[in-house]
Amino acid sequence: MSVTLTAARQARLVPALQAKGGRIVAGGTLAIADLNQGPTSGSALITLDRLGFDQVTAKGGKVTLGAMVTMAKIARDRRLKFLHPVANSIGGPAVRAMATVGGNLFAPAPYGDMAAALLALDAEVTLHDGKTTRKLVIEAFLRQRHKLNKTCIVSVSFASPPAGAFRYFKAVRRKPVSASVVTIAALLPRKAGKIKGARIALGAMAENAVRARKAEAALEGAALDHEAIAAAANLITTETSPADDAYASAWYRREIAPVYFFRLLTA
Ligand SMILES: Cc1cc2nc3c(=O)[nH]c(=O)nc-3n(C[C@H](O)[C@H](O)[C@H](O)COP(=O)(O)OP(=O)(O)OC[C@H]3O[C@@H](n4cnc5c(N)ncnc54)[C@H](O)[C@@H]3O)c2cc1C
Repeated sequence: MSVTLTAARQARLVPALQAKGGRIVAGGTLAIADLNQGPTSGSALITLDRLGFDQVTAKGGKVTLGAMVTMAKIARDRRLKFLHPVANSIGGPAVRAMATVGGNLFAPAPYGDMAAALLALDAEVTLHDGKTTRKLVIEAFLRQRHKLNKTCIVSVSFASPPAGAFRYFKAVRRKPVSASVVTIAALLPRKAGKIKGARIALGAMAENAVRARKAEAALEGAALDHEAIAAAANLITTETSPADDAYASAWYRREIAPVYFFRLLTA
């Protein structure tokens, strides 16, 4: 198999290369495995290393992660402490050193833990389609991500969560390295002791990370007490469609998600 590697010099030129059959390789943790298993006729790979997409900015309460920021970089950044459990739950050290934020947005279930966290954080995805740079709310992005494979993700941005408002748990079969049985990310800001603006995202419970809107509604305006959490836990799987895979059955995922959700919120 012949492989050509093109280092993109401008984000706006990447979609034209993709249109000609080129494929972005960021960390390559998934893309190279696909390449190894794919057709043997040849492949054009596009690297983004020269575009400066590996920067983290945190200013005025807004965080921007370049698409090429790795999990290891997030785990080292003191401004991103709330994301350390997320980054550290992704693969082992070798995978974290390579795996990028942009790549994680395309990772199929049961992967996509960072995508689930970014969904709870209501992130905005900046992408270049060759003509314009545009922004998409992450929920819309994840829903259409298969149609967006001819675009170049530039970065993701979100508001820094208030202290203690972001919670994360990933249930796994085997520690320390495993894909997800269920990933739970929750943003639970409080005003005068009551939840205001709850966002709950679940990973490995559908093709891509999804919101648990009914559970969010059950928490809205409530104090974070056992009663409200139990009511929300009862609703946590109602909008999901998990798969059976090597890590867990769909049945098990549905059984275990409310239990871990309850524990996460009562911890
Ligand atoms: C052993 C192992 C363990 C893993 N464990 C986990 C885990 O626990 N949790 C988890 O969430 N994931 C896990 N993964 C999956 C993967 O490592 C991550 O999801 C990672 O974030 C993917 O990033 P990448 O840079 O390697 O993507 P790549 O493999 O380079 O790319 C993945 C896809 O995204 C596209 N892409 C990448 N960057 C861009 C961009 N900027 N714009 C447009 N398209 C882009 C590529 O074209 C490709 O289709 C694991 C993978 C391995 C091999």
